[in-house]
Amino acid sequence: MSTWLERENPARLGELVGRVPVADAPDVDEAVRAADAAQRSWASTPLEERVRVLREVAATFDDEELAVLLARESGKPVGDCRGEIRFSGVFLNWVADRAPEVLADVETDDASGRLLLRRRPFGAVAAITPWNAPVILTMLKVGPALAAGNTIVVKPSPLAPLAISEILRRFPTDLVKVVHGEAETGAALVGHPLVRKVAFTGGEGAGRAIGALAGRMITPAVLELGGNDPAVFLPDAEFTDAAMDRLVMGSFQSSGQVCMAAKRLYVPAGREDEFRDAYVAAALRVVVLGDPLEEETTVGPVITAQAAERVRALIASGGEAVPLGRVACDPERGHYVRPTLLTGLDDGSPVVADEQFGPVVPLLTYSDTEEVLARANAGELGLGASVWSADEERAFAFARRFEAGFTFVNTHGRTGMALRAPFGGVKRSGHGREYGDEGILEYTQTCSVHAPAAFRAGGAGMAAAAYPV
Ligand code: NAD
Repeated sequence: MSTWLERENPARLGELVGRVPVADAPDVDEAVRAADAAQRSWASTPLEERVRVLREVAATFDDEELAVLLARESGKPVGDCRGEIRFSGVFLNWVADRAPEVLADVETDDASGRLLLRRRPFGAVAAITPWNAPVILTMLKVGPALAAGNTIVVKPSPLAPLAISEILRRFPTDLVKVVHGEAETGAALVGHPLVRKVAFTGGEGAGRAIGALAGRMITPAVLELGGNDPAVFLPDAEFTDAAMDRLVMGSFQSSGQVCMAAKRLYVPAGREDEFRDAYVAAALRVVVLGDPLEEETTVGPVITAQAAERVRALIASGGEAVPLGRVACDPERGHYVRPTLLTGLDDGSPVVADEQFGPVVPLLTYSDTEEVLARANAGELGLGASVWSADEERAFAFARRFEAGFTFVNTHGRTGMALRAPFGGVKRSGHGREYGDEGILEYTQTCSVHAPAAFRAGGAGMAAAAYPV
């Protein structure tokens, strides 16, 4: 008898969206063993055939029912959900395009000898994913892993397991397995001796537990963790309507529940009133808090009642709260929190010092650029950052000094990403990369084969225990 995890619509309390069966340790063992058993023949399948599978699945990603399901389980606006699914297809096709070059053997034959570098898959990979962008964050692991010749077992978040399960069913079943559940299921997966690589995206607490368990198993782990991204406006930055619109959505997309959201705003002292007015006006243009299934909605509810409580407490924790945007729903129907700008705080306030992961953002001022750089780099997190300036050279010079894995220039978040640009954290935001060629190579181990020239026919030879030069 399975136990089940039910998912309620965070925008319509009491509405059940669906349920998934919980996998216990024997279920996880069965999934990993099947993935392991299929892996060797998949790895010896020609690369063209492997990437064809990615293209075929990507071609099914225009499905409106899937977008509606994702909106209903996650509370994200349906337009955003369509975008995430479509973008996931674009990503799979990009992997299919890049894989032949990135995964190719590298052979050298010269005066030193003959060297072959081979990009070997790990075997069965475990993917553990969060709820905030479940489709793209899973495809970032599944696409490169399969292209490189691995198989994969995915444990989605119990808070948004439905749309991603439907997508994963579209891959060949022996290559992609799904196990549902909470931390216990995830731990059974990470700790399985036949899992050869772990790819995790989520919060710091789970990241530590997964990293520790993977370490005990000597299993390498990619950890994509949280961020507390600063957005720094240099003294010459202009607060144009278009820039402010991008910034506002860079903070409030998915109700601020985005790892790379703009989470701390730094503007030059003396310009804060001008900035606040421009920001409030932009929010009126682009923020519509409402039901995720309404097309005009740009910001939906947060994910759970606990998340709403936590964010409301942050809003009440100090400073002046400026409510933003337009409310187009009855906030009592779901876990709605009105997007809010907080002013008058210092860097020690919890909403500045820690990741808020919700629809509230602090506005801070600075008096010189060395000072703001030090404040932006303070703290243990280093995922994203942005710098805003009328002068691109100045922006890049400043960006080089950020302690961040990804710096956006004159934008923040989704609009600033590039498929070819590796993404991931520094410091305690994690390690390993997704996107870019590195995000494909993450699923390979480079193995070398070497014939030294000295020992080839006619070679010069070498003393039996000598170091090569
Ligand atoms: P979470 O860490 O609570 O859960 C993520 C996944 O890990 C879920 O599937 C969960 O069931 C599983 N899990 C939790 N504890 C586990 C354990 N001990 N062993 C095995 N599995 C375990 O995160 P969340 O609330 O779903 O997501 C929010 C966090 O994710 C935020 O901190 C956010 O910044 C971060 N995030 C990071 C990125 C990135 O790319 N760096 C992207 C999105 C979200």
